[in-house]
Amino acid sequence: MHHFPHNTGWIEVICGPMFSGKTEELIRRLVRAQIAKLRVEIFKPLIDNRYSRDEIVSHSRLTIPSQLVKSPWEIFELAQDADVIGIDEAQFLGNELIEVVQKLADQNKRVICAGLDTDYRGVPFDPIPQLLAIAEYIDKTLAICVRCGNPAKHTQRVVASRELVLVGAQDAYEPRCRNCFVPPDPAQETAVQEQLPLSSKQG
Ligand code: ZN
Repeated sequence: MHHFPHNTGWIEVICGPMFSGKTEELIRRLVRAQIAKLRVEIFKPLIDNRYSRDEIVSHSRLTIPSQLVKSPWEIFELAQDADVIGIDEAQFLGNELIEVVQKLADQNKRVICAGLDTDYRGVPFDPIPQLLAIAEYIDKTLAICVRCGNPAKHTQRVVASRELVLVGAQDAYEPRCRNCFVPPDPAQETAVQEQLPLSSKQG
């Protein structure tokens, strides 16, 4: 992005698989906003408790203080004094996040959402597709396929589980390209819909 709009809010989405640098990119943008003396607030869903309870931590251990929230409307309340709002792990916040992000952008705020665009099955992960559709700026980060070295858009689960996401279980996943990705066996997936975490229950 070479320059920003004036006198308006907008929405940015950073999406991609695990290990693709989404959180690093989010932190980079937020730190630059802080350097520019803008009021920055950072949120992440309570479900994500890896490493630290009150800061965003990327896989490379960059950190920035953040607030844990249970719902998108909590973000709306807590972000009222902010100019720039960062939301990490946005895929866990459910479809109400769409309306919240729209309202914040309509209040002339810059809203930056980072999240997984597909789950371990390769299925689009709501509400990220909807956020992409309403955003002004979108960036897709790719990881590197551990099998062949190609750019990787998939998060391959390498342990058996019926949970949609194994939070904090980094070793349970690896990045894979389109050719090397192996979708899970549908026969083992019958219980997944009833076990969706936070995201679907709030919608
Ligand atoms: Zn590959």
